[in-house]
Amino acid sequence: MTRSLSTPRRSYQSTLLRLERALRTIPGSRLIPIGEAVHGGRRYPLLAVTLTVGPVGRRHNRRPLRVCLGAGIHGDEPAGVEAALRWLEAIPAIGRRLPAAELVIFPCLNPSGYERNSRSNADGIDLNRQYKNPRAPVEVRAVRRAIEGVSDEQAGRRFDLSVEFHEDVDSAGFYLYELIDRGRPIGRRLIGAAARRLPINHADEIEGVDAEAGIIHRDRRAVLRRRSRWPHALYLFHRGTPHCLTFETPVTVSLSRRSDAQAALFTLALRLLANH
Ligand SMILES: [Zn+2]
Repeated sequence: MTRSLSTPRRSYQSTLLRLERALRTIPGSRLIPIGEAVHGGRRYPLLAVTLTVGPVGRRHNRRPLRVCLGAGIHGDEPAGVEAALRWLEAIPAIGRRLPAAELVIFPCLNPSGYERNSRSNADGIDLNRQYKNPRAPVEVRAVRRAIEGVSDEQAGRRFDLSVEFHEDVDSAGFYLYELIDRGRPIGRRLIGAAARRLPINHADEIEGVDAEAGIIHRDRRAVLRRRSRWPHALYLFHRGTPHCLTFETPVTVSLSRRSDAQAALFTLALRLLANH
């Protein structure tokens, strides 16, 4: 039997059930409805997760890191959503050993694309180019509103780090984007750790831009000049997030390996940033 393009490939509903199950094991975590997308009569609740991790009951001098994690904005990159779930499912075991951090997680930024295994949402729109558009689809407007509610650079409530989980079907190896305004880069350490789990893309040019040892450094000025078609990461950068990472896994290895690698690299990014 042939499967039509619009036939769902995955169930967002069962992903949400799994998410709710994971959050029940994390004291203080919250699942926050931020909006609803409707496509072809199907309703997709849009959700954010908030939680804190790190040592409990022990005094630490530093204020907690504030971190934003986004997954699944491209619906045909399933390892990101799986990685966010696996990371949350591991929190009861590893949460206290993590550095103190307050997190906002968007576990599935494009639910209709996720179900259909399409990069775009069900209306054919690449949500990761819509973050500057005042009339962006609801999936983007809801996330912008949620981020504006928790981050305000003027009030000193910016995120310290944003991480996005992506995949690249055209790449035979892992690579990452590192966009940094201040502080020390951590890309090399992340690539070193990724190399123990995945092949690395060592090309000098990836996606038409210069790369070095699996890292694409975005030039800050060029990024700030970009007037339209903002991706999620650039929106967060413009809102004062000084360190933005985008992980790109190759699909040449199993979903399980890609997801575990994304989750492990996210943990490492928290540790590296906390030690700066
Ligand atoms: Zn992507």
